[in-house]
Amino acid sequence: MALEHLLTVGDTFLAPESLRRTAVPADVAAERARSLKDPDAFWGAWAKRFRWSEPWSQVFDWQYPDHRWFVGGKTNVVDNALDRHADGPRKNHLALICLGEDGSERRVTYGELRDMVSRLSTGLRALGVETGDRVLIYMPLTLEGVVSMLAVARLGAIHSVVYAGLGVGALRDRIVDAGAKVIIAGDVGFRRGKPVELQALMDEAMQGLDVRHVVWFQRRAGGGRPLKAHEVDFHRLLAEHQPKTAPVQVDAEHPLFILYTSGSTGKPKGVVHVHGGYMVGITYHLRTFFDVRDDDIYWSTSDIGWVVGHSYIVYAPLLEGVTAVLREGSPDYPDPGVTWRVVEKLKVNVMFTAPTAIRMFMKFGAELPAKANLASLRLITVAGEPLNPEAWRWAFEHLVASGKRGFICDNWWQTELGGPTLGTPTSLAAKPGSVGVALPGVDAAVIDADGKEVPAGKGGLLALRRPFPHMMRTVWGDHARYKQYWEEFPGKVYAAGDVASWDKDGYFTVLGRSDDVLNVAGHRIGSADVESALVSHPAVAEAAVIGIPDSLKGEAISAFVLLRAGRKDSPELRAELVDHVRHELGPIATPHSIEVRERLPKTRSGKIMRRLLRAEALGLEKGDTSTLEE
Ligand code: AMP
Repeated sequence: MALEHLLTVGDTFLAPESLRRTAVPADVAAERARSLKDPDAFWGAWAKRFRWSEPWSQVFDWQYPDHRWFVGGKTNVVDNALDRHADGPRKNHLALICLGEDGSERRVTYGELRDMVSRLSTGLRALGVETGDRVLIYMPLTLEGVVSMLAVARLGAIHSVVYAGLGVGALRDRIVDAGAKVIIAGDVGFRRGKPVELQALMDEAMQGLDVRHVVWFQRRAGGGRPLKAHEVDFHRLLAEHQPKTAPVQVDAEHPLFILYTSGSTGKPKGVVHVHGGYMVGITYHLRTFFDVRDDDIYWSTSDIGWVVGHSYIVYAPLLEGVTAVLREGSPDYPDPGVTWRVVEKLKVNVMFTAPTAIRMFMKFGAELPAKANLASLRLITVAGEPLNPEAWRWAFEHLVASGKRGFICDNWWQTELGGPTLGTPTSLAAKPGSVGVALPGVDAAVIDADGKEVPAGKGGLLALRRPFPHMMRTVWGDHARYKQYWEEFPGKVYAAGDVASWDKDGYFTVLGRSDDVLNVAGHRIGSADVESALVSHPAVAEAAVIGIPDSLKGEAISAFVLLRAGRKDSPELRAELVDHVRHELGPIATPHSIEVRERLPKTRSGKIMRRLLRAEALGLEKGDTSTLEE
């Protein structure tokens, strides 16, 4: 049964002339055609900007479903992200600006960061960490968290970062699955002015497991609990060791990290990314799609616990020698205007954030960004969930001066994909509601279950027809699970697990996860269409819809909404919202019920968990809630 795409994509918007004129590449379609025609030449040329201790003998080796890149080459991501700059003219260039909710600010240069990382690598080696060992990192979003990742990778060891705050069960599963030998953890994080307990969670998670050493980053006021024999203090380890560990040169295909993604069902998958191809691919998109320039101040509001944090807080900005900002805590604390004051103070040029944050800013209203001077801000890239057209337009109008100063670039990707895959570059017109086109290196399609392309305007399954360098290589300890991605549909394609549609210009619209498809009276509708229709009403900031069994229609649409500041729930408003959706999408999408909520269940990375709303509505077991935001 075909999937409907009900929401019409309306107006198109252009980036300011200044951005369009300087966009690289100027012609995305031509660059993409080149990348697909001759991937060896395309990616090989980009890879040459990095240091390789051994050159590769082959750029791309595709043995479906396995792919290898820069075969035979040797390198280390951290050599390229730190030493290459610290040994050269960018030694004194600012690498990181690390902010705390309390207004604290720490700045480190490439030279200083290399020194810290090398010291920690020496210390970790003294604790027995060797190339290929797994080190689990459970650190708040701090300088020390980033240093931990880089120190592990410098040794050719493999980090597995777990979002600081994830619960005991999830943590324990990840320690066991990766076989972590050493753990680097914080005792507390800080959020909304309060300490977030991490140590007790870690202590419980580790019980009875064979973890050799724990390095504690201790910040608890009044001192932490006494350390045990196999435990050491983070700063002591730094102080007691010398910055004398050179980056270990590893095979281009050597694992750099494992990052667990829970998906909506089943056991978390340990997605594996490698040194060579990951380095090459994510930097290409930072320079082109994100348009980040040498002297930019670049701020991603994600966390090192997510793939965006790996690729676009830590690795890509440092590999490119730019200045990255990170901020621990909540984007609306101590007050909802703080994000814009940070942009003003640090003169942030490019920002990366999530739809959930844009909707939150929209909920608070346009006065807050209006109070700050956002003159420096030329690009906001947004990924993680469908960016509702209304939220896109709001951000365009209020954050980048209706396109007079900057642009909003939606982009779609996944933990498995490492970097932007579909998106709207500054050289093309944005169609709010559509994420954009397939980026260079990407061969994407919307197919049916038989693997056939669906026509423009119709919905289907989002698939990729070939790999690119920064795509996952395997699922840790479960290569069969990796193969399933490529074997789910006929045609040797990678199944993204999302439903989407495409138009005649090659723009894709992501309609939601396949698991969240609604089935109303024989019509299959993506959750995003109905949610975006609700968000287009001036009273609504955020919406989630689910299907509940209905004897007549198969499924009836049940909607949950969060209102914008100053709006109140009433039976009239709910009736108005039902009418509004009906008007926007037609009678088949009419919600059966609408409930106003104070909050919607979300993952800690800000994605709405429709599964939990469904379980609640149907009185079912909630299943795995380890990633639920508290
Ligand atoms: P994760 O691996 O946690 O980053 O989640 C990836 C999933 O997030 C994708 O499969 C999509 O369902 C969703 N997603 C990410 N970016 C977008 C976007 N720009 N538009 C729509 N959905 C998105």
